[in-house]
Amino acid sequence: MQSIIEVMQSQLWFYLTTVGLVSLCVGSFLNVVIYRLPLMMQREWQSECRILLEDELENKTVSNATDNIENGKPFNLIKPNSTCPKCKTAIKPWQNIPIISWLILKGKCASCSNPISARYPAVELITALLSLTVAYSFGATEQALLYIFVTWILVALTFIDIDHMLLPDQLTLPLVWLALIASVMGYTITPTDAIIGAACGYLSLWSVFWLFKLLTGKEGMGYGDFKLLAVFGALLGWQSLLTIILLSSIVGAIIGIALLSIQGKDKATPIPFGPYLAIAGWITMLWGNQIQGAYFNLIGY
Ligand SMILES: [Zn+2]
Repeated sequence: MQSIIEVMQSQLWFYLTTVGLVSLCVGSFLNVVIYRLPLMMQREWQSECRILLEDELENKTVSNATDNIENGKPFNLIKPNSTCPKCKTAIKPWQNIPIISWLILKGKCASCSNPISARYPAVELITALLSLTVAYSFGATEQALLYIFVTWILVALTFIDIDHMLLPDQLTLPLVWLALIASVMGYTITPTDAIIGAACGYLSLWSVFWLFKLLTGKEGMGYGDFKLLAVFGALLGWQSLLTIILLSSIVGAIIGIALLSIQGKDKATPIPFGPYLAIAGWITMLWGNQIQGAYFNLIGY
């Protein structure tokens, strides 16, 4: 590990090229995670419900949520292989090259010409660009590698939350533990800041949630949002939490207004909070010190 990092440090172009190419491929895999992980969770919930309601559900079919998925066959992030959703033709390895394949195929399935969503190459490109930004800002360090990994998971969380209003525990909780371990290893902040950060991150939104619910009877956000803020607390320390929350409201306001004007979305349409939190946390991860410095300058501190 140490020697790999030394090589990377001496060859910046090699480091950035490696991060860029690896992140493109990871982005391709994240597309699978974004599509399949929520379906895998739904399947699991359904099978748990089945067990609970065995007799009542025995002869009924639970369909819609598991569209196109045949029961009994393995369905996870590796199996089955990717197919065209329309004609079910298996996607060949050369058709799976990030961005390039989509461009060569002109955004269409090779066998049935069914359009392939531009979101797939977009996710790959976003993953690569964000990872490169982290790599360039932090150089070849353990901290950079950790932040790049966090960036990948944030991309998956953002798109899953947009699609399903869901931030899976399978993605958020491991990041909390990883960030805590990184602090103990000395890669990020002190373990004290990290532990207090994780606890305060979770509890602050948890309190807001219950206060909001007691006052209005509505649920303004989900438990996944608390866990995501706990991730950033553990990663960046309790000192960053206020910046992240303020920044996420700003990001939320900007995107919210943009969505309202573009799509004319009904104000009652629930918009997931996770993406704003992920964007604000990511920005704070990169430029938190500068933002806090600018803020203190502004108030003449
Ligand atoms: Zn097809």
